[in-house]
Amino acid sequence: MARAWALKSRPNGMPQHTDFAMITLPDQPLAEGQVRIANRWLSVDPYMRGRMNDVKSYVPPFVLGEPMQGGAIGEVVESNADGFAVGDMVQHMLGWRDEAVLPATEVQKLPALDVPVQAFLGQLGMPGMTAYFGLTEVAAAKSGDTVFVSAAAGAVGSTVVQIAKARGMTVIGSAGGAEKCAWVKSLGADAVIDYKSGVPIAKALAEAAPKGIDVYFDNVGGEHLDAALSAARMHARFAICGMIDVYNSGAATELRYLARVIGNRIQIRGFIVSDFFDRRDAFVRDMGAMLASGTLKREETVIEGLNAMPDAFLGLFTGGNKGKMLVRV
Ligand code: NDP
Repeated sequence: MARAWALKSRPNGMPQHTDFAMITLPDQPLAEGQVRIANRWLSVDPYMRGRMNDVKSYVPPFVLGEPMQGGAIGEVVESNADGFAVGDMVQHMLGWRDEAVLPATEVQKLPALDVPVQAFLGQLGMPGMTAYFGLTEVAAAKSGDTVFVSAAAGAVGSTVVQIAKARGMTVIGSAGGAEKCAWVKSLGADAVIDYKSGVPIAKALAEAAPKGIDVYFDNVGGEHLDAALSAARMHARFAICGMIDVYNSGAATELRYLARVIGNRIQIRGFIVSDFFDRRDAFVRDMGAMLASGTLKREETVIEGLNAMPDAFLGLFTGGNKGKMLVRV
């Protein structure tokens, strides 16, 4: 019997294990045009926390008691669809389960690149696209810029660090703890702030970037965003990607330096990665070449087994991952 995780109750604050329930899925014969996929890799992502709230957003909320969804890579084990054969490795959005049955129109074959398949959930997938387009298009970052990126040891942040260095920028990252900071430095960052060290982030950033920053890539919000405002140079550009600091608390952020937006003509622009999905092919070519050449280092934190999926998800909020957080089924 196929199994899936369902949301049992909507979390209030930090999700708890009791908010999740494993359910068995009814046998599903294949209809015309459908494929059956044995999932091999499942993605957990911070945006899923938003889908646990019953509010209107850019993705609909998870339905209580129903299988959850998310990015997944798997192998076709049965096909009733033209163009899909048993053994094909594919990507789709019916994650949080060990087996998926869905129309082939909702499944993408993986491009033939010499990289491990799970890279398509990380640097060659949604987080990689977020880093790539957020930095180069939304923030219009260019050679010579000084870039500050928060959650720099995570999937998106560590990719931002590396793309920025490859394109001739000075990079300051922030991450939680000495070990993660050392790793971000090893990726090429010029300086890394340990935001858990007790030093106010604005003070640490002023020391790391005495002439200020041109670009802020925001994954965190809160005190990080305020610190970036405090350090922003004239015509700085902020790509607002995520605010993980408030996903569980929902707390309002006090921005003491917000008024600097005016005098310094700071541009603050939010984005959703899907804004750039029509450019996926060009992205995969460019990033695929960077991965193949070793310009981009791939890092994953792998949690074993479907049973541990909630652990992997909760780990995103406690810094449990370096690089992309993945579950291997
Ligand atoms: P990560 O791999 O970065 O995992 C989350 C990391 O965030 C943790 O490892 C932890 O690292 C850090 N973190 C957690 N809580 C806090 C906190 N309160 N303050 C500071 N850091 C914290 O996740 P992703 O790379 O997948 O996502 C990064 C951000 O990008 C998220 O905000 C996400 O929602 C957003 N995003 C937005 C997209 C868009 O389309 N706009 C698409 C994809 C992602 P540490 O140990 O350093 O604290």
